[in-house]
Amino acid sequence: MPDVFADLVGQDEAVAELRRAAGAAAAVLRAGAADRAPALIAAGPAGEAAPETGGTEPGALDPSTGMTHAWIFTGPPGSGRSVAARAFAAALQCTYGTGCGECPGCHTTMGGTNADVRMVVPEGLSIGVGEMRALVLRAASTPSGGRWQVVVIEDADRLTEAAGNALLKAIEEPPPRTVFLLCAPSTHPDDISVTIRSRCRVVPLRQPPAAAVAEVLVRRDGIAPDVAQWAAAAAQGHVGRARRLARDPEARKRREAVLAVPRRLTGVGAAFDAASALIEAAEAEAEASVSEADATERAALETALGAGGTGRGAAGAMRGAAGQLKELEKRQKSRATRAQRDALDRALVDLAGFYRDALTMALRAPVDPVHTDTAALAGAGAQKWDAEGSLRRLEAVLACRAAIEANVKPRIAVEAMMLALWKG
Ligand SMILES: [Zn+2]
Repeated sequence: MPDVFADLVGQDEAVAELRRAAGAAAAVLRAGAADRAPALIAAGPAGEAAPETGGTEPGALDPSTGMTHAWIFTGPPGSGRSVAARAFAAALQCTYGTGCGECPGCHTTMGGTNADVRMVVPEGLSIGVGEMRALVLRAASTPSGGRWQVVVIEDADRLTEAAGNALLKAIEEPPPRTVFLLCAPSTHPDDISVTIRSRCRVVPLRQPPAAAVAEVLVRRDGIAPDVAQWAAAAAQGHVGRARRLARDPEARKRREAVLAVPRRLTGVGAAFDAASALIEAAEAEAEASVSEADATERAALETALGAGGTGRGAAGAMRGAAGQLKELEKRQKSRATRAQRDALDRALVDLAGFYRDALTMALRAPVDPVHTDTAALAGAGAQKWDAEGSLRRLEAVLACRAAIEANVKPRIAVEAMMLALWKG
């Protein structure tokens, strides 16, 4: 296994900072061991509130050394926020260095089996307070591997307010051996509360350059260089999306359908048809991505609850079972909604790339097109619309994304966008 940071594409500055921090964290552990680990002894068993450490005892974290208890990884989708968080978690658990990739600490963290590293991945639209309280309790326990308890919260922007408050309490008085790693699109108050933000160190990730994304697709996934280059450009710096485009014919087909939209907008009726097609494609894609997990979960729950018991207590058990099934359905519905929004957003990003190409061509800007395969079409658009018309269309797509983000019904936002694209 290569170094744990190897998959963090085009983020040299962030990697350097995280390595420094992991080095400082290891030094803290060594100092703690030399002093018979007072901080480890001070940490209570699971479920107990962490004692005040005052930050002065040997082995406690001193932020000036480069290590601290709470971090936020920010960056555009696909820039590698969760990849960075997981790699940093591995570096903290690394026995030999700062993420060697070889030792048991690195291996188990990267493989998702380290007992002291918890990854929280919200499946629905939000992370609830119950989930967060349970997590904070467990995070306060002594690390079984003797190093750090690491809690990674992906999509920390989906914390409910109550969950955010529960997390804030833990971050304000962190147990001595606990580290929180949050991932969010930005540090805007819409994404992360100001109070949580003020307690965290921010690691900004940038959109990786296409060449760096292509390189990792070739090296790690064995994808042919020409396919990798095309996919990296088409995915606009989103590593996971580039990999899907390079490997999954269905993903390529969906992208082609989206990029066919501009030439289909020949009238009002066609604009509404295009809107319907886009929404239905997003629904189908989401359905395909969640239906298998839904069925598996339901079967597992039904098995766990047992079928058709009789005798004393059976009626009560049935009532409990109905409640659990209802709860599961609620969670699955929320996850499906999220998957639809994500699929639609990917389509809108592709479409925005097309109009961006038209704009850069109209301006004769010396930049490579996002979509090499529709560059000729974007060039024709550039001639017809000029820079202003191309910009208006690009803005219409971005406005549609913003509207959906602000909870406008997707169909209404997409219809408005298609009409704007048609009228110009
Ligand atoms: Zn290691």
